[in-house]
Amino acid sequence: MEKKVLFTIFGGTGDLAQRKLYPSLFRLYKKGDLKEDFAVIGTARRPWSDDHYREVVMGTIEDLIESKEQAETFASHFYYQSHDVTDTTHYDSLKELADSLDQKYQLEGNQLFYLAMSPNFFGTIVSHLKSQGMLETEGYHRVVIEKPFGSDYASAKQLNEEINQVFSEQEIYRIDHYLGKEMIQNISAIRFANNIFESQWNNRYIDNVQINIAEDLGVEERGGYYDKSGALKDMVQNHILQILSLLAMEPPVAFSEKELRTEKIKALNAIRIYSEEEVKTNFVRGQYAHGQLEDQQFAGYREEMNVAEDSATETFVAGKFLIDNFRWSGVPFYVRTGKRLTEKGTRINIVFKQVPVNVFKKDVTDCESKKKLAPNVLTIYIQPTEGFSLSLNGKEIGQGFDTLPVKLDYRNSTEIVENTPEAYEKLLLDALNGDGTNFTHWDEVAQSWRIVDVIRHAWDKETPDFPNYSAGTMGPKAAYDLLAADGFEWIWKP
Ligand code: NAD
Repeated sequence: MEKKVLFTIFGGTGDLAQRKLYPSLFRLYKKGDLKEDFAVIGTARRPWSDDHYREVVMGTIEDLIESKEQAETFASHFYYQSHDVTDTTHYDSLKELADSLDQKYQLEGNQLFYLAMSPNFFGTIVSHLKSQGMLETEGYHRVVIEKPFGSDYASAKQLNEEINQVFSEQEIYRIDHYLGKEMIQNISAIRFANNIFESQWNNRYIDNVQINIAEDLGVEERGGYYDKSGALKDMVQNHILQILSLLAMEPPVAFSEKELRTEKIKALNAIRIYSEEEVKTNFVRGQYAHGQLEDQQFAGYREEMNVAEDSATETFVAGKFLIDNFRWSGVPFYVRTGKRLTEKGTRINIVFKQVPVNVFKKDVTDCESKKKLAPNVLTIYIQPTEGFSLSLNGKEIGQGFDTLPVKLDYRNSTEIVENTPEAYEKLLLDALNGDGTNFTHWDEVAQSWRIVDVIRHAWDKETPDFPNYSAGTMGPKAAYDLLAADGFEWIWKP
């Protein structure tokens, strides 16, 4: 159904707005979710005109348009307001523009504010929205907030309190764009629509779970931001713990925002919070050195732009989470994420337990590898390919009785993947529909920080021996030792 809404995008000239938000708004427009009755105000410090802004917006949707007229009509809904978010008087002109657009497009006072800029400004922006009367319109007021939400539990709590002065929890949409991805949402379909999996989804049948988010790129131009953050805060606190909670949660009684959220929070609450001593044996950090992959040479992290020469920031994390509840007691959830790894890919491996006895082993003199069958593994591919596969053991054709692993593979074709809505498009539409299912609730953010803070504190007490892995590899040796100590290995070996 067509939405009537005024978007105000703070950071309208920024990278996120241009790469993700404008193309996503255009896709919604093409599908008819946005038609005539919407307007967008882009704000940032640069003194752009409306015309220039519209040119920029049209530039971001070049590959998606059917005709120039279509692009121009779409862009005619965009207005630019030069604005320093710390300057109170600027909000008065912003309000004037917002009121006039509300009249012009008959938007019934519905407003969605998108904070696509540095989190340092989130508190300032929302308090000004209230003090300068921007929220005194009749319709709904929602705020979409980009990550990172705080830099530890204390700062996240303070930020949340500032935002809560102005917006209620139901009006806050904390984006974790991973939650908008098709295959992440598919985790629930795989689990709750297939009895063969859900009946086995526990510590009696599952040996371990492995969550990988690997990037082949380095820090590129984001060195300044990344050097202050590191992989733990950039990836584990949000995306990885969100994926983990979807894998580990109990089946919700209904697939609704409230029920899902309740179960995710329960799963996060059951994750063991380590002592600082336990962090040392359960978590590994790494930083990439100069390296080579095929004929490509890569600089080390410390040589990247805007990165300190003696930086102690981790570009890699591997770790083991334990979940202390009836379902998961004793099952390690291994996680691994990093930059400049061998291959880009987000994939989850659910590793099932072995059959109790391998009746196919020939005799006691069989070597170790023949005594054990390959494990059954359910792999969920999230990106760049989307789909899932199940590896089973079958009989190798021939006289003898050798088993061999076979893979049932279901991958969405490139064509289907291209046509699936972008994560940002799905999440924007959810926010317009007032559906917070795929956004992060404060209780989830809070618990994730509590889990991650302990790891950070333990690490901050010691100077790491960095760099410790070569660019183009899958991380330091310690990440392999972590699983080997439990008798396991990483299933994904690119
Ligand atoms: P960016 O640096 O490209 O853009 C920042 C924007 O803020 C610019 O439009 C700039 O003009 C504006 N700005 C800065 N100071 C201002 C001030 N005082 N008053 C008014 N405007 C001001 O940043 P980005 O990459 O677009 O990221 C924005 C947010 O999104 C950040 O919170 C970031 O962590 C998050 N994020 C970005 C990406 C991405 O792919 N770029 C991905 C995930 C999350």
